[in-house]
Amino acid sequence: MPSIKKYTKRPWLPEKAPFSGYRHHNTGFYQSRKWRSLRALKLERSPLCEECQRKGIFTPAQMVDHIVPINKGGAPLDMDNLQALCNKCHAAKSARDKSITH
Ligand SMILES: [Zn+2]
Repeated sequence: MPSIKKYTKRPWLPEKAPFSGYRHHNTGFYQSRKWRSLRALKLERSPLCEECQRKGIFTPAQMVDHIVPINKGGAPLDMDNLQALCNKCHAAKSARDKSITH
């Protein structure tokens, strides 16, 4: 007969781990009104993917990317640090950014 595992309550542990780490992410910034309006303005000015345009392809931009990522010291709200990208080019850029180790 297999023994039945008893659920032992451990009252010294909190029932749920407190939600932590939220502030370490940039989610707050990307939800800020300033960013969203700048992003909308950028897409208005550059409705096409800039990376594709360099190759002579016209693809509608699907997102606004920071040329120099914020976590690498890029200016978060500087129009000059923004580029409109399609999802494909953004995925390629993210992969490139990760492969660079300085
Ligand atoms: Zn593109």
